[in-house]
Amino acid sequence: MQTNLSEGGFADIRAGVGRLCAEFPGAYWRALDAARAYPAEFVSALTQAGYLAILIPEEYGGAGLGLDAAAAVLETIQAEGCNGAACHAQIYIMGTLLQHGTAAQKQLYLPQIAAGSLRLQAFGVTEPGSGSDTTSLRTMARRDGDSYIIEGQKIWTSRAEHSDLMLLLARTTPPDQVARRTEGLSTFLIDMREAVGNGLTIRPIRTMMNHNSCEVFFDSLRIPADALVGEEGRGFRYILDGMNAERLLIAAECIGDAKWFIARAATYARERHVFGRPIGQNQGVQFPIARAYAQMRAAELMVREGCTRFAAGQNCAEQANMSKLLAAEASWAAGEACVQTHGGYGFAEEYDVERKFRETRLYQVAPISTNLILSYLAEHVLGLPRSY
Ligand SMILES: Cc1cc2nc3c(=O)[nH]c(=O)nc-3n(C[C@H](O)[C@H](O)[C@H](O)COP(=O)(O)OP(=O)(O)OC[C@H]3O[C@@H](n4cnc5c(N)ncnc54)[C@H](O)[C@@H]3O)c2cc1C
Repeated sequence: MQTNLSEGGFADIRAGVGRLCAEFPGAYWRALDAARAYPAEFVSALTQAGYLAILIPEEYGGAGLGLDAAAAVLETIQAEGCNGAACHAQIYIMGTLLQHGTAAQKQLYLPQIAAGSLRLQAFGVTEPGSGSDTTSLRTMARRDGDSYIIEGQKIWTSRAEHSDLMLLLARTTPPDQVARRTEGLSTFLIDMREAVGNGLTIRPIRTMMNHNSCEVFFDSLRIPADALVGEEGRGFRYILDGMNAERLLIAAECIGDAKWFIARAATYARERHVFGRPIGQNQGVQFPIARAYAQMRAAELMVREGCTRFAAGQNCAEQANMSKLLAAEASWAAGEACVQTHGGYGFAEEYDVERKFRETRLYQVAPISTNLILSYLAEHVLGLPRSY
């Protein structure tokens, strides 16, 4: 491939992550996939090497780098055949705490997260009844003296069993008492170590790939009032701010997936001989791989533009949404080309192609589906009427 992992800057970080990932080969991920088990050793190695604290300011023990550096970490993990979904949320959930947390909250949590003694991996937004329509969520946090009492349910809360803290979005004012449904929502940092069994129940959901997603039930869970992050009622705005970072980082992961698929497909197409010549000599085999490569490269430029705007403090919603859309489509095109190039072997577990294929499919649905991104572009960029 023309592109290589040192492109896009951060060559040292990419090389370091690449060396770490080499310790976790396909066999490691295949065994976890079969057992639907959590890659605790991989996450621990990334934590100890400081990569999951890349956005935490140096004064709190992190690397103090920007979103583009975090994107390089996650892209490399995927391009090396590993799966950052086990721990990517720690990087982007952090933004809400960094930007809206009090000095006391930052002092309490950030050094422990940076040191790896506290895991911030769970993000509770989606509910069974709300889906993409986030502001219709029904989980309530009711103020009671020095506490809030939480009632409700979340679904698809990934890594809830492997996290100490959860960033929760809940309603603090009923929708009929606010001018707009985007108001009256608040963010909380919940210590799940104390909560499980005391009003918090976690139930895993088995999915087509190894993702450790869960249902989470709140049954009169009492949390201290100082678990509130930022101002009460403004939580939706905070979550939206964080979503641009999340979309850019997920897009970087899709770029990494696409690179893995393209490299695997091109190698196999050169080496596999049928009818007395390499299958890659046939244009019918070459073209889907070449097209996926072009899609990936275009998406990569959009991710870079988004990260540059994010770093400059400019509005990057358009770029973040387009990055996620284009990169998820590129990784899917690359996955499809990779399976097809491998013929029957694309379905054999030991090639890892089918595992990566299942894993990368998610990103056209989560954390936001392709249709909702198109609606955003139509309405907010092109000025078309709101469709929902
Ligand atoms: C494995 C996994 C992990 C996840 N992890 C987390 C997590 O950690 N935390 C969290 O909070 N959430 C998480 N999610 C939830 C994820 O963000 C949602 O699945 C996603 O936002 C879509 O919501 P939904 O599944 O309810 O789909 P729905 O909103 O029900 O949508 C279903 C389909 O209808 C389409 N659709 C809906 N409305 C419209 C419209 N107006 N116009 C056009 N099309 C429309 C959508 O595009 C989609 O294709 C995860 C999901 C999965 C599958």
